[in-house]
Amino acid sequence: MQLLDGKLVSEKIKKDIANEAADFLMTTGRKPHLVAILVGHDGGSETYVASKMRNCQQVGFDSTNIRYEDDITEEQLINKIRELNQDETIDGLIVQLPLPKHIDPENVTEAIDYKKDVDGFHPVNLGRMQRNLPCFIPATPYGILLMMEHYKINTSGMHAVVVGRSNIVGSPMSILLARNTQPGNCTVTLTHSKTKDLQEEVLRADLVIAAIGKKNFITGDMVKEGAIVIDVGINREVSTKTKSGYKLYGDVDFQSVAPKSSYITPVPGGVGLMTIIGLLKNTLAAAKKEVYS
Ligand code: NDP
Repeated sequence: MQLLDGKLVSEKIKKDIANEAADFLMTTGRKPHLVAILVGHDGGSETYVASKMRNCQQVGFDSTNIRYEDDITEEQLINKIRELNQDETIDGLIVQLPLPKHIDPENVTEAIDYKKDVDGFHPVNLGRMQRNLPCFIPATPYGILLMMEHYKINTSGMHAVVVGRSNIVGSPMSILLARNTQPGNCTVTLTHSKTKDLQEEVLRADLVIAAIGKKNFITGDMVKEGAIVIDVGINREVSTKTKSGYKLYGDVDFQSVAPKSSYITPVPGGVGLMTIIGLLKNTLAAAKKEVYS
């Protein structure tokens, strides 16, 4: 079993991004700039946005966090997005999910200029991704691909089973793995809560992507000997034993799955760190107009 080390890989890629950001500053006189809108006070979202801002600073990007209380209306939020769309000093614009129930995330996602949509959630980017055209790939699947590239994992011909079909992880991951690319060229099964026999499906996988949101859900008896296991899950539980006051658990029961796997990502220290890399790379590409002119 080999650990897919998100800390090691993300630190290495961050150095490359920082060098490119420095070159960008030299040639343009400004830094790549990411704006993140955060609505309300969800504990997880606060942590994620703070981490995104901190990572931007570490690689030499400008970053701005715009905060609203959760009584902001959808119209007010969308008006602000439209204003930011027009601002030429902003390269990337993201709205942290989840949003309060009275705001439709689809409307918000579609309001963002797809050329600044560095989360890759806009239908234009998703459609272009499916067609294998230049686009912003959603940060988590992008980070997973970068991780597999780093470890030179050749996925061609593998049977990949993705557990979870969310718009931000499972669905785009299934599309990316099925594309005629490397990593890619997998035969993909996309599973969800209505899948009849999940264990049978996952047992057939050479590559398992777990994005469910349930602590230790994938257990050793569900995984084939030698499978590659990517654990996307971040399940926070209150803990008196950690400084932060909570402990993170993956969707994969590491203890029983790791001995059977060929490669596995830990939680924390795996996919979460690579997701930030996906976002930073998209923001840099937006600043350099590498995807859209
Ligand atoms: P969602 O809640 O949007 O989706 C969960 C998916 O899991 C759904 O498709 C659901 O099926 C499926 N599911 C739920 N229960 C079962 C079950 N018993 N059997 C099979 N499938 C099931 O989650 P996200 O994709 O947003 O996130 C998943 C996890 O990944 C969470 O822990 C989240 O915190 C984490 N995450 C981590 C990131 C990172 O950077 N590491 C980034 C984003 C998310 P159905 O569609 O039928 O309801």
